[in-house]
Amino acid sequence: MRAVRMTNPGVLEQVEVPTPTAGAGEVLLAVGAVGLCHSDLHILDAPPGLFPTPITLGHETAGTVEAVGAGVTGWTPGDRAAVYGIVGCGTCRGCLRGAENQCRRILPGGIGLSRDGGLAEYVTVPARNLLHVGDMDLTQAAPLTDAGLTPYHAVELARPALRPGTFCVVIGIGGLGHMAVQILTATTAVRIIAVDTSVAALDLATRMGAHHVVQAGPEATQRIREIVGEAPDGADVVIDCVGVDATLTTARTVVATGGKLLLVGLGGGTLPVHPVADAPPTLPLETTVEIPFWGTRAELQEVIALGRAGLITADVQTFPLERAPEAYDLLRRGEVHGRAVVVP
Ligand code: NAD
Ligand code: ZN
Ligand code: ZN
Repeated sequence: MRAVRMTNPGVLEQVEVPTPTAGAGEVLLAVGAVGLCHSDLHILDAPPGLFPTPITLGHETAGTVEAVGAGVTGWTPGDRAAVYGIVGCGTCRGCLRGAENQCRRILPGGIGLSRDGGLAEYVTVPARNLLHVGDMDLTQAAPLTDAGLTPYHAVELARPALRPGTFCVVIGIGGLGHMAVQILTATTAVRIIAVDTSVAALDLATRMGAHHVVQAGPEATQRIREIVGEAPDGADVVIDCVGVDATLTTARTVVATGGKLLLVGLGGGTLPVHPVADAPPTLPLETTVEIPFWGTRAELQEVIALGRAGLITADVQTFPLERAPEAYDLLRRGEVHGRAVVVP
């Protein structure tokens, strides 16, 4: 079968590999769609040794069951499914509590991270990693598993602070951010302020329900302050889906006293934490900072429910498998709007 693999650190190639077979407890899935996540670019850029090679990338997958391995119940060929991407150890404190995204033994363990992912005609996954999607379009189902799940988990962490009429700033309206705006619209009554460098991304944010849009840059803090008021007031919640120095600066300078910062983006920036009594602090007093990772299986089921109800819809640009490397180049250049989804 055809697969798009990281054959060596940083090297992406389309290659022919044997079609895998489902082992005990596994399902062979015919891939219907796989979303391209900006994290794949971080994986390609990572120093050798952090991720195994060769590995088939793609951790945002939906497909149709082709065959089931020994001992699998509840799945039959023809069933349509979304893949929960995280493979935890199953026995640590995090996994025992159902939070495999907090696995204390295998991190980051996942389909397309530590074992072969979905950028291929077929992929094998543990049966317990599949969730039913009914008759949903698979190009819609795939982005839900990360671009939907990750911001949903972030919103869940912040939910007690997302009171009606308060402000939530979402920075970076790409794959994750455009879903974040819709999840906030569908499940809260906050006022959403979307921030991005790209005008097209800000237009997308408006279409997805953002109440205000602010172009990223040196004046972003001032513009957001005109909306949320002066310190020590501010935005109750800030979700940064970029995570570079510039966006972390915007985030910490607009969050309210007692607010929440959710650092979703893995852009490599630094957030200074410098508690002092005699100067303006780098973070307002009582601020909470959280670093959400992906989400739980139960949350994915809820995200799929939002998708099936038509309350969230990924803005999708599709590519055939052989154009996956080109689609990654577009993603790197900031030329993908919404989510690029490969249909093998
Ligand atoms: P994306 O490329 O689709 O979107 C990024 C968006 O940020 C684009 O719209 C871009 O224009 C905008 N942007 C870039 N630089 C900016 C800046 N300085 N200021 C404002 N906007 C800026 O990426 P994505 O797939 O949505 O992923 C976003 C980030 O989240 C990546 O770093 C990715 O690795 C990370 N991620 C984290 C998790 C997690 O579990 N924590 C999960 C998935 C992705
Ligand atoms: Zn991802
Ligand atoms: Zn574990």
